[in-house]
Amino acid sequence: MDDFPDITQLRAGLDEGQFSSRELTAFFLDKAKRSNGILNSFISFCEEEAIHQATEADKRIANGTAGPVTGIPIAHKDVFCTKGVLTTCGSRMLQNFKSPYDATVVSRLKEAGAVTIGKANMDEFAMGSSNENSFYGPVSNPWNIERVPGGSSGGSAAAVAAGVVPIATGTDTGGSIRQPASFCGISGLKPTYGRVSRFGMIAFASSLDQAGVLGRSIADICLLFAQFAGPDPLDSTCHPIPDDWLEEGASLPSQKPKEKICIGIPKEYFNKATYIAPIEEAIRALETAGCTFKEISLPGTETAIPAYYILAGAEASTNLSRYDGIRFGYRCDDPQSLEDLYRRSRSEGFGKEVKRRILTGTYALSVGYYDAYYVKAQKLRRLIQQDFLKAFADVDLILSPTSPGIAFKKGSMADNPIEMYQQDLFTIPTSLAGLPAVSIPCGFEKEMPVGLQLIAPHFEERRLLEWSHYFQCLTDWHKKRPENS
Ligand code: GLN
Repeated sequence: MDDFPDITQLRAGLDEGQFSSRELTAFFLDKAKRSNGILNSFISFCEEEAIHQATEADKRIANGTAGPVTGIPIAHKDVFCTKGVLTTCGSRMLQNFKSPYDATVVSRLKEAGAVTIGKANMDEFAMGSSNENSFYGPVSNPWNIERVPGGSSGGSAAAVAAGVVPIATGTDTGGSIRQPASFCGISGLKPTYGRVSRFGMIAFASSLDQAGVLGRSIADICLLFAQFAGPDPLDSTCHPIPDDWLEEGASLPSQKPKEKICIGIPKEYFNKATYIAPIEEAIRALETAGCTFKEISLPGTETAIPAYYILAGAEASTNLSRYDGIRFGYRCDDPQSLEDLYRRSRSEGFGKEVKRRILTGTYALSVGYYDAYYVKAQKLRRLIQQDFLKAFADVDLILSPTSPGIAFKKGSMADNPIEMYQQDLFTIPTSLAGLPAVSIPCGFEKEMPVGLQLIAPHFEERRLLEWSHYFQCLTDWHKKRPENS
């Protein structure tokens, strides 16, 4: 077995009895724990539960009832509620929170027999693009530990890139799966809004939050994704109609997908990216494979970041009002009055970026400013969605860089939130439109990995994943690993 086996290889090893799930789990737990002093990619480990789940998986393997991910160690971003184990959401506010139930994503993966080894570090309440906003400390990028892994699913991305876990879940509200995948040289899928249940996923901005996967390849991602996508009566925003391809396991063709496609290149994205050569090379590879390309325009691009920060902040201010020190979350010591309790619990429990979002969000929703900010941002959101719908009348997929640049140095944007917000320039419009998108590795710039973003129309995950997988059949960027991993 090579040092970086994929899930299919791991499953084969389990089925052939080369190793048991217990052994595999112990191996990854040990590797993850040893790396944590440097990477800090985990907030907590679930050793006891993992050994128990692995023992159960071994039984299923022995009696022939194993599925595609049974016995495979995984990590969950700490935004997912996991019954009986810590779920902090990267915040002091939930430092001691042990969830009484599992998120749907978690329970479905448990049923499928995957083994949770730990909870991955993340920006507090999923707000950030660098993982520096975690109460549990920043995460290091395994390609260069002085640099950030991206955020907010930075712990998941760093752990997968370093090979300390084969695959991990994440969430994406404005780019939090794709941007860290791009920074860490791995693949990431953000599904269509509504494809995956949000039940048990701690809410940041409910109209944007969506769960997905960060993995070493699109093939691995499909295996995991098929286990948890699909209708859920516990989330009314989850699309009620199942997708046959996903229900049947999301299997990928080994040859070129049958349909011929035309890929759109949004002109507004290309003058702002710092890495163009790897993207041009990816375009050439797809051209050779028979794809045609067409320049398209997404004129609302410039308005996406301001609209997103109004809307996401507004929703966050509402969602986070439940952490009042009484019903939920951290409570300050020795409160002098009810108001003192509220004020100090929230002041001490939340970090700086979360407070900034609550303040701006509350402002945008306040009586005098609601029309000027919130309503206007909603209108912009609709226009951005229409840009995409119009573009998809002519093209089948859209291609762009995932992020304007490579992973930046820790601390370099700490005092400049606006610059940090620009990191999501190419991922936020897709989120506002609710579209599915991936980031896949497509090369290097200054020795750091960079990602290619592919975007599909609503609920066209199959087309998106088949072509992304085909790209990975043509290239081997996704097989590159950081040294010392
Ligand atoms: N970086 C963006 C933000 O800070 C996106 C976060 C996310 O997708 N969860 O809001």
